[in-house]
Amino acid sequence: MALIVQKYGGTSVANLERIRNVARRVMRTRQQGHDVVVVVSAMAGETDRLLGLAHEAAPRPSEREVDVILATGEQVTSALLAIVLEDMGCRAKSYLGHQVKIATDSVHGRARIRSVDSFKLLADLKEGVIPVVAGFQGEDEWGDITTLGRGGSDTTAVALAAALGADLCEIYTDVDGVYTTDPNVCERARKLRRISYEEMLEMASLGAKVLQIRAVEFAAKYKVPIHVRSSFNEEEGTLVCEEDEEMEKALVSGVTYDRNQSRIELIRVPDRPGVAAKLFQALSHAAIPIDMIIQTSSAEGQYANLAFTVSKTDFPKALEIAKEIAQELGAQEVLSEEEVAKVSIVGIGMRSHTGVASKMFQTLANEGINIKMISTSEIKISCIIEPKYTELAVRALHDSFELQKEEG
Ligand code: ADP
Ligand code: ASP
Ligand code: MG
Repeated sequence: MALIVQKYGGTSVANLERIRNVARRVMRTRQQGHDVVVVVSAMAGETDRLLGLAHEAAPRPSEREVDVILATGEQVTSALLAIVLEDMGCRAKSYLGHQVKIATDSVHGRARIRSVDSFKLLADLKEGVIPVVAGFQGEDEWGDITTLGRGGSDTTAVALAAALGADLCEIYTDVDGVYTTDPNVCERARKLRRISYEEMLEMASLGAKVLQIRAVEFAAKYKVPIHVRSSFNEEEGTLVCEEDEEMEKALVSGVTYDRNQSRIELIRVPDRPGVAAKLFQALSHAAIPIDMIIQTSSAEGQYANLAFTVSKTDFPKALEIAKEIAQELGAQEVLSEEEVAKVSIVGIGMRSHTGVASKMFQTLANEGINIKMISTSEIKISCIIEPKYTELAVRALHDSFELQKEEG
């Protein structure tokens, strides 16, 4: 008998019929003798609808209030699933984040979980009750409701699995696993049987929204195996687990894209110590995460250009700060592009192989795609390009690294 945390995403709970389908699956797992804790997302489209409503009320709504509104999406589905389970003869109880003491910091809209109290959940399981926890939400030290960032129900599920010492965390979604690239963009995408935490973390960080980044971080830290699978069929999905020898063989295991990126560039800032520190300190005080940074100095060494990328949601705030700092520093001007795309290739095999970067650049060049920025790590290479070329770039890279071929 195992303890399994099952998380059902928005499409899996999009209407009552699908919620009944989820309830049947939960009951089947119970009948197989396992203990189950369920985490649910809001119904598909609901979080977007609520966010739209908040922004209709005011152009810059308070982040605290937005979280109060957004958390209602998951509140509804957790209670609906509990009702349906009870109707089918199963004891079940819904819980909001604060009721199971999912304690977070106070960064509204992308709060990080600090601790979880598994006491209530374990007591329920002992009594044969199935707890159904609203994903995506927590409570800060002042008792205010927080949300964990888009896709945050994945993180709720893995954090609960870690706190409960669960044997497995199942993530039920609308695709039947983690693919070499987004199967909705590239029809030749191939399902991976297994992927290491490290590669999955890179893929998630680089835009593969099938798992939220924080969820993978938690899973890696507490060694929680994740099984990503579909709630619409019985197919084996993808196991996200620790790296093994077999995985090492893949040079490149995936291609990702992220259209939610913006680029800001300060032109001709004085090339002296402390300039970059000033700019990035100001951005960090505003809690804006920076992705890529490129600085180029002029030949005579007097001036530098400083370019960086942020997520599109942070663009207005980041641009405002960049303009202020540029003025203080006496920069010539600030250039910006609100929409750029990032395409990346990921693979642990890159550690021990050369020529991967040049092949990536050549592939993009062959398609006539200009590269605006490049960044690399041990196991990934990313390029910033014009957003209209995203799908073309993803397919071309998927083909040129022959990812449609079977593993091993
Ligand atoms: P849920 O609502 O169940 O959390 P998401 O929309 O957050 O589902 O995540 C699933 C989606 O992730 C898929 O529909 C797919 O378009 C996208 N995706 C992006 N990259 C990948 C990938 N490499 N493998 C599988 N799905 C991916
Ligand atoms: N409902 C939230 C979102 O749409 C959280 C989630 O689905 O994981 O981002
Ligand atoms: Mg998701």
